[in-house]
Amino acid sequence: MRTVAAYAAPAAKAPLEPTTITRRPVGDHDVLIEIKYSGICHSDIHQAREEWGSGVFPMVPGHEIAGVVAEIGAAVTRYAVGDRVGVGVFVDSCRECAHCRAGEEQYCLNGMTPTYNAIGRDGEPTYGGYSTHVVVDENYVLRIPDQIALDAAAPLLCAGITMYSPLRHWNIGPGSRVAIVGMGGLGHLGVKIAHALGAEVTVLSQSLRKKDDAMRMGADHYHATSDPRTFTTLARSFDLILCTVSATLDVDAYLGLVRLDGSLVFVGLPEEPVSFRMFSAAAMRRSVAGTNIGGIRQTQEMLEFCARHGISADIETIAVDQINEAYDRVLDSDVRYRFVIDTATFAQ
Ligand code: NAP
Ligand code: ZN
Ligand code: ZN
Repeated sequence: MRTVAAYAAPAAKAPLEPTTITRRPVGDHDVLIEIKYSGICHSDIHQAREEWGSGVFPMVPGHEIAGVVAEIGAAVTRYAVGDRVGVGVFVDSCRECAHCRAGEEQYCLNGMTPTYNAIGRDGEPTYGGYSTHVVVDENYVLRIPDQIALDAAAPLLCAGITMYSPLRHWNIGPGSRVAIVGMGGLGHLGVKIAHALGAEVTVLSQSLRKKDDAMRMGADHYHATSDPRTFTTLARSFDLILCTVSATLDVDAYLGLVRLDGSLVFVGLPEEPVSFRMFSAAAMRRSVAGTNIGGIRQTQEMLEFCARHGISADIETIAVDQINEAYDRVLDSDVRYRFVIDTATFAQ
């Protein structure tokens, strides 16, 4: 066992505070990663506040991990000491079910093991990236291409794959009209990736405050959802709307923006259920769907896609003692566009 520094929420809704945790010994198939940067995903906040149900406390959030391999187990073949690597939302799965075998481990029929806020297959709690080190089976580790800086790569491990996977699943490419709702951590990467895939990209944001940034990142159009005209001007416009909003919203209004046979796809996972009129979907044979991150193989593909297209996150780097402040700013939609913790600040 190895004792390492971490930041944890001691209980639901409590501020995060410095602590220490233990990491398991490096097993034959494990790599020890020295974490350099860890992104702050809105899912960290939902879970630390128990907005998705009861949590495992103390909770060390963080599932956008970028670092360097510090040690490898005897049977490790894919990684060597010094490699630049990442870890995303899960660190294990059953490896035997049809979904695991198909490379869709995020939908493991026996339940994938989340990077934190879970009990691992060894019966021990899992702890995430707000920490200096993590031990992960090599099969659940990603390689970060040299072209992408480690700090700006971290958010790709959750936010990046969460947007890339549905854009590929719904066959987005040249000629597709895509709307991204919510210009936050997920949303800004959605804009960059959809643009790189050749789509015509529209951002739907609460205000016009983030317009210049969105256009610089590749958006073709930008509208404020606070302006009711947005919902008439853009009626029946989009093949795909990816909704990243972390709060409930008026689903009927957004369905009205989907064209015949198009889809409204939710990645945002608010605490409260939503309802909508079946007429809103039936009117244009519209689909309503949800999607969850992506598998290991597709996450690696996404990292290579981003390297080829010069894509990484726009980040604001913070010290570990600024996590609680950063949470408040995320809740205020005041993130430009992902907070990333520099773990070197643990030592200070
Ligand atoms: P984020 O950085 O906070 O971005 C969310 C954006 O939604 C905000 O920037 C804001 O954009 C908009 N928004 C927030 N509150 C709103 C409200 N009341 N009404 C309208 N718009 C609002 O969060 P994130 O890290 O991107 O995560 C977004 C959601 O996706 C969270 O619920 C998270 O848990 C979930 N998530 C899901 C997956 C998955 O695999 N399904 C993966 C990661 C995260 P504007 O300022 O542009 O309006
Ligand atoms: Zn996340
Ligand atoms: Zn499985």
